[in-house]
Amino acid sequence: MSTLLSQLNLTSLPAQLPALLETARQQQLSYEAFLELALQRELAERQARAQERRLRSARLPFAARLDSFDWSFQPSVSERMLRELAGLSFVKTATNVVFLGPPGVGKTHLACSLATAALEAGHSALFVTLRELSQQLAQAGPRGGLAAVRRYSQPTVLVVDEVGYTRMSDDQAHALFELFSTRYARRPTLVTSNLTFAEWGTLLGDEVLASALLDRLLHHAEVVAINGRSYRMRQRLPADHPQGTRTGEPRPLSPEEARVG
Ligand code: ADP
Ligand code: MG
Repeated sequence: MSTLLSQLNLTSLPAQLPALLETARQQQLSYEAFLELALQRELAERQARAQERRLRSARLPFAARLDSFDWSFQPSVSERMLRELAGLSFVKTATNVVFLGPPGVGKTHLACSLATAALEAGHSALFVTLRELSQQLAQAGPRGGLAAVRRYSQPTVLVVDEVGYTRMSDDQAHALFELFSTRYARRPTLVTSNLTFAEWGTLLGDEVLASALLDRLLHHAEVVAINGRSYRMRQRLPADHPQGTRTGEPRPLSPEEARVG
């Protein structure tokens, strides 16, 4: 029996079959009801595995959800707008979302939350920092250059994180423009940055290219500008400790807090 099942690629049924047969006996299921139940279980397992694969291959740096975001800590962020985006309107309309603000205010958290919502709805997503992306766009060999542009064009949702810490070469800047142009109006790109748009000319080393790129990036886009305090530093800021408990005392950074940006 299990050989037959594996020949048919029904990989999760063998483990479940004894329990399923027991259920069928106890509940005196008809042949038809039993077959349907068994196939449903196989399908559910398959979908769960595909979901896990999608999640892993998205390479999100941490599991983030809107539900774990403390909205009261960051009042400049509109919960209503983010909830609406997480309903995946941005995927349907290929609307980019650009998160701007200083380090620690939750840009990566919010971008990853939107990517997670897309993944859970069955879309593909991919996370990359601008630093890694630039390296791959400039890389010689079969995986670099245009191949990298194509690779990053494909996922339904692309997160380009930490725009601002990298100074790009001419080739990298043009490849980035190519990537954003290819995705433009087709698939949404989520960007996080601590730069103002005026600084993108310096980032790309070319003002004209920067304005053409921003033109595409911002044509169908929501800009979420966050101007609040760093969540990473919250325990050290007196505002969070009105009783004045241990405010000035340094404590070791967790690995997450030690990450830049
Ligand atoms: P940024 O990308 O803006 O530098 P992150 O999104 O990496 O900031 O946030 C830093 C850490 O703090 C992350 O672990 C994130 O989950 C958490 N964080 C940031 N803002 C909030 C918030 N308002 N509520 C809950 N957690 C937050
Ligand atoms: Mg970040």
